Amino acid sequence: MSVISEQYRALLPSLGSARLVAVSKTFPAADILEIYNCGQRSFGESRAPELAEKAKALPADIEWHFIGHLQANKVRPVVEAAGWIHAVDSLKLLERIDRIAGESGRHPKLLLEVNVSGEESKFGLRPELLPEVLAFKPEHCKVVGLMTMAPDGAPEAELRRIFTTLAGLAKSAGLPEISMGMSGDYPVAVACGATMVRVGSAIFGRREYLK
Ligand SMILES: *Cc1c(COP(=O)(O)O)cnc(C)c1O
Repeated sequence: MSVISEQYRALLPSLGSARLVAVSKTFPAADILEIYNCGQRSFGESRAPELAEKAKALPADIEWHFIGHLQANKVRPVVEAAGWIHAVDSLKLLERIDRIAGESGRHPKLLLEVNVSGEESKFGLRPELLPEVLAFKPEHCKVVGLMTMAPDGAPEAELRRIFTTLAGLAKSAGLPEISMGMSGDYPVAVACGATMVRVGSAIFGRREYLK
């Protein structure tokens, strides 16, 4: 058994009922297949061309999660390959995804990215804008949850504040999915009610380049 499957198996018991999105960005198909063969089916990518290439080359029963910042001109390839899109951060983007989903005959599940930490993160909706975005009812896709990223290296009290806030916002909006927690902070996210964690380097090892 190689290091990747060992790290994968060691991680699973600490996730409780949260589902694992194994973040495979920058890692080769062989690494993905290694934990695919241990039973993992959900994988996360953050670049549209890399997602398209991997989706074409790897088994069709993989459920692809697009977790990165989505630019308007990349919506089509992402909608064609991903079953889940985690970081929808504007009404305009949501409307565009819905239109292209209609044209492509696809029905992705969507999460709205919320910036609950304040200035530190560039992307994500301010919480007060959520009602306006949620008032839009897409025809071809469904908003199923909220997602956030905590600032790198935030102290545990700050992580708890961020994750608890996101869970509360999802609950009051009646959204079942809460996507939060990465390699450095997933235990706190799980304790605060994450339904999905997005973990990459704790399974696959260090990435050579970011995002
Ligand atoms: C890369 C990435 C992750 C995973 O990060 P790790 O620290 O490798 O676990 C999670 N979420 C998003 C949005 C990412 O871009």
